[in-house]
Formats: sequence, structure tokens, C-alpha cells
Amino acid sequence: MKEKRKINLRVDLQCGTCGALTHTEETPPKFCSCCGASYARYCLNCTKKAAMFFEEYWPTEDDCVRTYTPAKRCPSCNAGLEVESRDDVKKDSHYEH
Ligand SMILES: [Zn+2]
Ligand SMILES: [Zn+2]
Repeated sequence: MKEKRKINLRVDLQCGTCGALTHTEETPPKFCSCCGASYARYCLNCTKKAAMFFEEYWPTEDDCVRTYTPAKRCPSCNAGLEVESRDDVKKDSHYEH
């Protein structure tokens, strides 16, 4: 076993609706700060929540960049999740315009 290294983890969330990247350091936000779309996706077919998936990228040995994107397909029934009802996008989030 190696000694525990300090790893700089950087987490980015990519909005599945507008594609904006949101950098987060602590608790990930639930909604895109750019368009207000929810990061969580629910399958309309089996009504299960589809977890986000992430890709890791290591610029250096000690730096990890993790980019989360909303699932494009339901992990349970494989239904496509790309088509979302626009009515679900709440405009009354904490976004100042
Ligand atoms: Zn967005
Ligand atoms: Zn499903």
C-alpha cells in the first residue's frame, strides 16, 4: 500500500440541456445555473431516477477532473432520456436575470 496522497479533485457538471459547464467544489447543485434545467433525470418509461455518469481526466498525477453529465439512457430499461418536457424546466430558480 502506498501512502495516502492528497488528490485535488475538481468536479464539473455539464448541463444536458444547454451544455454549460458548472464548476462545483462541495455539494453539487441540482439545477443548471445557466438555463435552470435539472441535472437529475427520470425515466418516463419505468419512472426510475437515472444517475449521472462521469468521466475522469487526470491532467497530472495528483489532479483529477471529473465531469458529470446527465444520463442519456435509462440504466434500467435503456429508454432514451434526451427528449424532456420543457414544462419541467422551472424558471423560478435562484437565478438572477
Ligand atoms: Zn443548462
Ligand atoms: Zn427506464
